[in-house]
Amino acid sequence: MKWSLNLGSVSGIRIYVHWTFMLLVGWILFVQLGAGRNPLEAARSVLFIIAIFGCITLHELGHALTAKRYGIRTRDITLLPIGGLARLERLPENPTHELWVALAGPAVNVAIAAGLYVMLRLAYGAALPEFAFDIAEGSFLTNLMYVNLGIVVFNLLPAFPMDGGGCCGPCWRTASMRCRRPASPRRWARRWRSSSDSPGCWAGTRSCSSSRSSFTSVRTRNSACTRCAARWPACA
Ligand SMILES: [Zn+2]
Repeated sequence: MKWSLNLGSVSGIRIYVHWTFMLLVGWILFVQLGAGRNPLEAARSVLFIIAIFGCITLHELGHALTAKRYGIRTRDITLLPIGGLARLERLPENPTHELWVALAGPAVNVAIAAGLYVMLRLAYGAALPEFAFDIAEGSFLTNLMYVNLGIVVFNLLPAFPMDGGGCCGPCWRTASMRCRRPASPRRWARRWRSSSDSPGCWAGTRSCSSSRSSFTSVRTRNSACTRCAARWPACA
């Protein structure tokens, strides 16, 4: 993305921050100093925003590194005032992989919140330090823990471009395939052979549990999908 500063790279994935992020920092300083806060309190607010964006970067790396596990490259991750953006080269064709990639981001924030909770419990016991909606008040770590939980809830909203929306597609396709009446072996063989049709590939894979016994008798048993190179018996 143009006008972005390179912050470095993790596992070959470049991380950028867009210049508009500075507008957010400037706005935070303006609001905090305008509200009569001293420079130290205003600096703490900016530090808190940077900590949130650190968690968002880890969230995006969760998506990107899970995608990498399935052979999908991520061009880069860019931090914008509205959040992070991981640009994957493509979406996984296998709906289970797609689901894991979508869930990996929120899972990172759950792990961060859990880690902060354990730290706070060890340090303060049962009575956690107070949470405050104002970022200049309350406990820094308690606020950060709740913000991470907020990121999880917000991202799992079942709408695009949220991660919840990304989960809907594979869940719906998987459910619809499970509900479908098992096709005849001849029809499965035809689907499996149609290598230019990627849904045909995962459709065969996902439904193997219902039609496995009949499918094993057809002669295409050892044929591979030319797109993902998966072999039919892999799911048997
Ligand atoms: Zn996400």
